[in-house]
Amino acid sequence: MTKLAQIIVDVPLMQTDKPFSYRIPEDLIELTQVGSRVHVPFGRGNRLLQGFVVAIAEQENLVETTELKDIQEVLDLEPVLNSEQIALADEMRKTVFSYKISLLRSMIPSLLNSNYDKLLEAVEGTPQDIRQNLLGDKPSISFSNLSDQDQRLAQRLVKQGLLKLTYLAQDKKTQKTEKWYRVNQARLAELEVPARAKKREALKEFLDQQTEGGRYKELLEDYSREQIAFFVEQGGLEIYEVVVNRSDAYFDQVEKTEFLSLNAQQAEVVERITSRIGQASVPFLLEGITGSGKTEVYLHIIDRVLKEGKTAIVLVPEISLTPQMTNRFISRFGDQVAIMHSGLSDGEKYDEWCKIKSGQAKVVVGARSAIFAPLENIGAIIIDEEHEATYKQESNPRYHARDVALLRAKHHQAVLVLGSATPSIESRARASKGVYEFLELSQRANPQAKIPEVEILDFRDYIGQQELSNYTPLLLDKIKDRLAKGEQVVLMLNRRGFSSFIMCRECSYVDQCPNCDISLTLHMDTKSMNCHYCGYQKGIPRTCPNCQSASIRYYGTGTQKAYDELQEALPEARILRMDVDTTRKKGAHEAILAKFGAHEADILLGTQMIAKGLDFPNVTLVGVLNADTSLNLPDFRASERTFQLLTQVAGRAGRADKPGEVLIQTYNPNHYAIQLAKRQDYEAFYKHEMAVRRQLNYPPYFYTVGLTLSHKDEEFVIQKSYEILRFLKEHLSDKVQILGPTPKPIARTHKLYHYQLILKYRFEDQLEATLNAILDLTQEPANKDLRLIIDHEPQNVM
Ligand code: ADP
Ligand code: ZN
Ligand code: ZN
Repeated sequence: MTKLAQIIVDVPLMQTDKPFSYRIPEDLIELTQVGSRVHVPFGRGNRLLQGFVVAIAEQENLVETTELKDIQEVLDLEPVLNSEQIALADEMRKTVFSYKISLLRSMIPSLLNSNYDKLLEAVEGTPQDIRQNLLGDKPSISFSNLSDQDQRLAQRLVKQGLLKLTYLAQDKKTQKTEKWYRVNQARLAELEVPARAKKREALKEFLDQQTEGGRYKELLEDYSREQIAFFVEQGGLEIYEVVVNRSDAYFDQVEKTEFLSLNAQQAEVVERITSRIGQASVPFLLEGITGSGKTEVYLHIIDRVLKEGKTAIVLVPEISLTPQMTNRFISRFGDQVAIMHSGLSDGEKYDEWCKIKSGQAKVVVGARSAIFAPLENIGAIIIDEEHEATYKQESNPRYHARDVALLRAKHHQAVLVLGSATPSIESRARASKGVYEFLELSQRANPQAKIPEVEILDFRDYIGQQELSNYTPLLLDKIKDRLAKGEQVVLMLNRRGFSSFIMCRECSYVDQCPNCDISLTLHMDTKSMNCHYCGYQKGIPRTCPNCQSASIRYYGTGTQKAYDELQEALPEARILRMDVDTTRKKGAHEAILAKFGAHEADILLGTQMIAKGLDFPNVTLVGVLNADTSLNLPDFRASERTFQLLTQVAGRAGRADKPGEVLIQTYNPNHYAIQLAKRQDYEAFYKHEMAVRRQLNYPPYFYTVGLTLSHKDEEFVIQKSYEILRFLKEHLSDKVQILGPTPKPIARTHKLYHYQLILKYRFEDQLEATLNAILDLTQEPANKDLRLIIDHEPQNVM
């Protein structure tokens, strides 16, 4: 009987996008499990590659062939993937056109995919000869330094509990340790403490009671280092270091809070949702205005889920994962919570993953990729701000967290809750058709809090007469009024689709990136011109590179400029600026918010990153400096995004007892997205937008797929785009509409030309097969260097 493993190897190519068979050698049979990572020889050169075991089968009377190779090494003692995740990758592969290996890789912490090392340590009580043979005199050694034979021996000893394997984070130096003590009771009993040493006598009595040991820090609260050292020298006390989860210290300082009693609307929503836990049910769309208490609803749902012995995932947009947000979960559920976001180091991410995998964490709060958290027995999946485009990954694999959530919820019979004040048009349409169950929260949770008044200021009235380019006199007056009252102001500069650039007044020359078709962005903090696509950087020119004139001017409403203007107009105001420049450092984002929350500043001025989730009771005025920039983008979702952004930011005002007011400055006061944002009427916006989408055959009436081809030679990429167009027309039914090929709105980046095709369809049997065939085509030698991206339901068509 031979055991065979089916393995997906780490080669992202169409030819390798299927499992390969390997023989499991006798001595690895016990270790090899479905979901384990292995090293296998691959290809003619038998290069050792990492792979995932996706199935194991027994084969009788296997004829020995030279074809079949052996697994070389098993990297995991416990599988890193479970069967649900492996099945999930199969299912996702049908609509996400990237290779299965990249789907599997995205489900585990990057540490386990990258060049990690493993550290081998002896566990207490390991026989001396084993210790000596494998580790020599060292307390621990790097696993990869062992011979093949020793590695296998070591793995068996780990299974027997004599040795311990830990993954070495690249940032091991930042690994957190804490000192603990334990008492050697036998030695302590024999110990003579000199008479008159009262304090030592007291410590001895104390230690006598400590059978478990404890934190060194706690000993230090009552005793001096010298007193403690006495017992250590005499062998009665041992001090040792343990590695602690890096987030533990943070969790400890968050104070517990009690559940709020729900208002009638909230209670009904919670009841409707929790009654379906553990049953097959359709997803819920929870449309709740800003401040309606959606988060409190989530907390109650999770409470119920935990009481039923189940687990929960909460997804929040990356930018909203502030301590203010995560603390609301930690303060209720303590260390049952794991937080996952991109600000963590690889080591920290690995720690959190372990906390989930071991079963300690039962509630995972995180950004997009937290949807893959290895929880068992999931009772609820909640996606807050479900309309956010960041739930779609913009690089391989291009999955949407909502689609993954649907699959996982179905598998676990978990309730899936999509929450938003401004649901995506697609989701709202599904709720209309009963594909989702529609739930509404139409009032603010705090009865004192009123929906703020919104006023639109027509910027065109001020052209040519204003002194400050970013502020109308009315907005400035209102800001002054709040400062006088000791209230706070939030100002948003909409920078979506906008950047600061340099233009020559003589010849209109705009400084462009040499690699990309885009103007360079001016960064005052680094005093440089940067390309936001390829990272190209150069100094700020003093004269025009084209005509040498000195009349080169800075254009654009950067936050720096808006800040300078405001500070000059209001010298006493304490202003905080929040944008990509001021939040680049780790923790800076949180620091700014904490300062504003503590009222150490009067005005928070920032880009759209301030629009989300902030809940500051003292904010009574919100100003939008320029509502328009995002309206003019060549994307069919431009109106939707603008409406969402304005509604979100307006929701930051008047969240507590004091009434709030919102001013929106715009050049397009009559645009429906702006008018309906003024009324904060999502339902009216939804109806209007649906009519537009219907007329233009856009989602949700049609599905879309975007194909982008890139190559350094423009003629080549045009020719290939037409070849693919022909192929599509040949293989798809004529009900599929094909737009393009056209150059992308930003036609060249990284020295590559980009052309796109967009497919619009309602039903199409041949779609998956055809798109996979195109992936195949682009891998032919003749198409070397041609890059193809297939994006199912692209969130940006720019
Ligand atoms: P949303 O997520 O819908 O914007 P939040 O959950 O942040 O709303 O709630 C807005 C504010 O109302 C918060 O300060 C929250 O503490 C408060 N709140 C929520 N539910 C209740 C309730 N049932 N009773 C009193 N206050 C509540
Ligand atoms: Zn560039
Ligand atoms: Zn010039």
